[in-house]
Amino acid sequence: VLSVRNASKHYRSGDTVVRALDGVSLDVLAGELVGIMGPSGSGKSTFLMVAGLLEPPTEGEVILAGRRVSHPSADLNRLRDFRRGHIGFIFQKANLIPFLTAAENVALALEIDDVPAREAHAYAVELLRALDLAHRCDNDPARLSGGEQQRIAVARALANDPPLILADEPTAALDSVRSGQVMQLLRRIATERGAGVAVVTHDPRSLHLFDRIIEFEDGRATAKPRPADDLFYSLIPQTSLGKARP
Ligand code: ATP
Ligand code: MG
Repeated sequence: VLSVRNASKHYRSGDTVVRALDGVSLDVLAGELVGIMGPSGSGKSTFLMVAGLLEPPTEGEVILAGRRVSHPSADLNRLRDFRRGHIGFIFQKANLIPFLTAAENVALALEIDDVPAREAHAYAVELLRALDLAHRCDNDPARLSGGEQQRIAVARALANDPPLILADEPTAALDSVRSGQVMQLLRRIATERGAGVAVVTHDPRSLHLFDRIIEFEDGRATAKPRPADDLFYSLIPQTSLGKARP
């Protein structure tokens, strides 16, 4: 679903140029959960910004749904239009709207896409039910735990059924149980909905869920051996959500 080709992003600060991204090529396939790791300042968030059409690259191109949509001279309004319906974003904080209920927060994403309010609400409730949040639909965000808020943010990102989901440290603010739930959910979105999902994470506990791990370092990306390839993981039987994965 996503193909980033030889993308660079340079920021000028005074006389120096920061090479936040330096010639990165990376594909995310449908149904695939890709982990992005690497030290602070290595370009992970910059990569998601470029891949997610929030910023055009300084060099290189981004191909989405078979179309070359982003390149150094891409028009920002066109990028914004293309983002809608194609890409779901999840950030470190859920950023729910505090005066809307959980279901209304999700429904809003659909209403922006011209789905009538009643239909949008019904689908939001259905989606939250599928994420085991049926009992939270009518609650205000402030009454929800951090993990629940983040799962609602995941539901919101899913509402328009985008083929690509990009998540920047979605579990950084969560404890290990709730992180695990959110990561399992992202795994399911890839496996069951066939979305391509790329997640920046520092959490070593969920590495076994990923199909691939990409390590960033100084704006460059290299593939890392998948932990699931280790003998240790190969001995653990596939459980509950672990459908046959490629
Ligand atoms: P972290 O793990 O801390 O989130 P990261 O891997 O996401 O780090 P980026 O945020 O992509 O790193 O930043 C990569 C480099 O680009 C850093 O040196 C950062 O200071 C620089 N950078 C990012 N955004 C800008 C900007 N808007 N202007 C100038 N420099 C920037
Ligand atoms: Mg970052």
